[in-house]
Amino acid sequence: MSRSDAIKNAVLLPEHDDVWQQAKWRARVRRSLLAWFAKNARDLPWRRDSTPYRVWISEIMLQQTQVATVLPYYERFMASFPTVAELAATDEQKLLTHWEGLGYYRRARSLHSAARLIVAEYDGVFPLDFDQVLALPGIGRYTAGAILSISSGQRQPILEGNTQRVFSRWISLRGTPSETPNTRLLWQVAEAMLPRKDSGTFNQAAMELGALICTPKKPACGQCPVAGACQAYQTGVEEEIPGKVTRVLYEDRTEFAVVIVKPSSGCRKAGEITDRCYLVRPLPAGGRWAGLWDFPRTTDTSYASVNAAAKQLSAEVGVNIQPGIRLTKIRHAVTKYRISLHVHTGELLDTKQAPGKPWRYVSLAEMAELPMSVTGRRIVKLLMEHS
Ligand code: SF4
Repeated sequence: MSRSDAIKNAVLLPEHDDVWQQAKWRARVRRSLLAWFAKNARDLPWRRDSTPYRVWISEIMLQQTQVATVLPYYERFMASFPTVAELAATDEQKLLTHWEGLGYYRRARSLHSAARLIVAEYDGVFPLDFDQVLALPGIGRYTAGAILSISSGQRQPILEGNTQRVFSRWISLRGTPSETPNTRLLWQVAEAMLPRKDSGTFNQAAMELGALICTPKKPACGQCPVAGACQAYQTGVEEEIPGKVTRVLYEDRTEFAVVIVKPSSGCRKAGEITDRCYLVRPLPAGGRWAGLWDFPRTTDTSYASVNAAAKQLSAEVGVNIQPGIRLTKIRHAVTKYRISLHVHTGELLDTKQAPGKPWRYVSLAEMAELPMSVTGRRIVKLLMEHS
């Protein structure tokens, strides 16, 4: 290698301790970690019977979501869809009802498509080949590795939020883990650390350490089984690692929703007149919360006034809307937007004209069975409190 290549490589290499390349160090870390995990692993439902299907569902639910939030959803989901075939056979509305409140609904749709593909291509048996698993909708390198290592002990590394932080601290990696050369390095570390057998237990142990001990702020190094080998702790820099990620710049947005009651006294359901009914529709494909039901509301731009928003909503409904008083304001965030949703009453100016498809008048009781957007559900609760 020429001197200039050596200098270039030195500049490109991230700053870290290469202790992980020593087999003795790796064996020591592994031993301590696995002994700790054997005593401290949490009793989680997907750990009791780790079939590929059960691990898959848990991994998808756990993306961007805390274990405590996932637990009741997981139990309910497995009770309704105990096999790939039953998941594939359900309709999307029923699936979304089971997902409502977990957020990131694309995950549920990908699960559905993947289940249908597994039924069509693999007779409903979850594949155990890494490339076949990776090719399924909604499954990336981490999820494929987690499913196969945990369910069948395959020697597959994993790297997600917890392990990124834990491995970064073990090797005292100073850079941001999400930068490409650092990510590449961490995948190498993740692979080198795996034992010859039962990689799934090692992977779960590393994630568990990140969740319980090696937390993002104030890691509990005093209780950590790996403290003696951890390069960040040994050099007193554990709280500076991982390196800072550029913060998301939020954009404020004002959106409007209008609650429109059916002009006649009630709506019909199964031959009876039920309570008041409200105008709702499933949100269109390709946009925010596609497939979930919601009241007329703006989702794609910020409006200065309810009258301006009502013009857009009138065009969507196909009948002119007259907005009324404000009922409430709901604050929520979606991706980079911090949204103030102003919820108003409203009425249709031409009561003889019916709203176009897919708008429907639905009672609050019926809405309880429909998969609703997060804010749609909050509006339903508000209306129930006042009905
Ligand atoms: S010693 Fe501290 S920083 Fe190192 S792995 Fe343990 S908890 Fe994390």
